[in-house]
Amino acid sequence: MEKTGGKGLSLARRLYTSRILGIALGLVCVSAAMYPLDPAPWVWGLMLFNGLLWPHLAYQLARRAKVPYHAEYRNLLIDSFLGGFWIAAMQFNPLPSATTVSMMAMNNVAIGGPRFLLVGTAAQLLGMGVGVLIFSPAFIPATSALQLYACLPLLCLYPLALGWICFRQAHTLGRQKRELLALSRTDSLTGLLNHGTWKDQLEVEFQRCKRQQKGGAIALIDIDHFKAINDTYGHVAGDIVLRQLSKMLKQNLRATDVAGRYGGDEFCVILPDLPLNRAATVMDALRDRFSTLGYEQSPALEVSLSIGLAAFNSDHTDATLWLNDADQALYEAKTTGRNRVICCDCDWPRHEVTDSV
Ligand code: GH3
Ligand code: MG
Repeated sequence: MEKTGGKGLSLARRLYTSRILGIALGLVCVSAAMYPLDPAPWVWGLMLFNGLLWPHLAYQLARRAKVPYHAEYRNLLIDSFLGGFWIAAMQFNPLPSATTVSMMAMNNVAIGGPRFLLVGTAAQLLGMGVGVLIFSPAFIPATSALQLYACLPLLCLYPLALGWICFRQAHTLGRQKRELLALSRTDSLTGLLNHGTWKDQLEVEFQRCKRQQKGGAIALIDIDHFKAINDTYGHVAGDIVLRQLSKMLKQNLRATDVAGRYGGDEFCVILPDLPLNRAATVMDALRDRFSTLGYEQSPALEVSLSIGLAAFNSDHTDATLWLNDADQALYEAKTTGRNRVICCDCDWPRHEVTDSV
């Protein structure tokens, strides 16, 4: 059985509606079978209590319990026990009894799987035993037409309601699964792909370049002296800078480009089908625009970027070597003065874009 929403409170809520419906329809079915047997007033009283009040009492018991899940488990066993009890009280009238058994089995297996089906069946047998002791029933093998019609609402409506509840549950679970998947792929601060997902995309792009003999470039972008920005303006200002850069990446790249946060103040971009010099032009424009941004909260704040670029080439036997080239270029950008774009092209001499583009 699932444990959700405050240790089973959402389960109790879900069962509340289905129990009200199922047991009220069950009351119609059992009443029609009991009426010809002329039961004692206390039996009618118990039937009405079970059919009309029990669902509300069960919900309140679950709601007030420390662990609603445990209380609901007990409530379901009481449902099964009472189901068995009424089967004996109806003197095993075939159709109402079979209807009760099958509806309870459907309920128990839908909520707790085969194990709970077994436990519920045991509770039902126990209820039947108690019913046999109290009523010493004879076996009545015939179901009248009226009793048949009285079973129809339960037979038709309850499976429909339970199916609808299961469908809604599956729908919600599907949506939550998609949301969780998106969250697990995304960096929470910037909304860009996180390190792992970006690396997966790099592998995909690497295989595509290898297969199709196409060119593409990757860029590693690092904020210059970011630690000093944090130290001088505070981490909140630092976070604003990180978000600003990610926003700029989202707005200025093509839909096919794949941007991610590599970690800390380092970002990464895959630029498919873009020759290295064009990729360098794009990145240099981005660097230039970023360095002129103003920050309302910290007007004196100036931020620059160092960017290392590498094109795919046939020497790259795996994606890591491609990434290493971009890393080397970034290292060179850092060591030669920062605030610049450096390209690494293994077939060509390295050159600074600011000089050559
Ligand atoms: P360099 O120019 O060589 O890149 O120097 P740097 O100071 O930018 O590089 P360093 O690696 O020394 O510092 C990166 C800093 O980024 C250190 C870390 O505290 C900070 N940082 C990492 N993640 C976050 C974050 O999510 N928010 C903020 N505000 N700071 C972060
Ligand atoms: Mg840095």
